[in-house]
Amino acid sequence: MRMILGYEPCDKCKEKMALGITLIECSEEPLNKNQQPITPKNSAFTLYPTGNWFVVRDEFITRTFNDPYAASAISHRKAFIDTSIGEALRKERSAATDDSNIGKNETSEL
Ligand SMILES: [Zn+2]
Repeated sequence: MRMILGYEPCDKCKEKMALGITLIECSEEPLNKNQQPITPKNSAFTLYPTGNWFVVRDEFITRTFNDPYAASAISHRKAFIDTSIGEALRKERSAATDDSNIGKNETSEL
């Protein structure tokens, strides 16, 4: 059993995340009652990571999302997505044959 002290990714995950923009799938409900939110305490909303994340290209962001979300995702190199978008990305990934970087689903070790 590991002590979970935060949501800082390990070096292996950081390497993958550096390849593009990381979309972190989050739920508004905690997965268990002890789960800590990934959002700061003073944030306008409270989100809990599901453990799924996706690394996508900048072009995918600009094609899929509108500003200011797209601009924010591109400048921060990461963004939170809800589970319905996560589900759509998983479907797109299983349909994709020539674009392995889109919707790449990794189970994080967060
Ligand atoms: Zn990791």
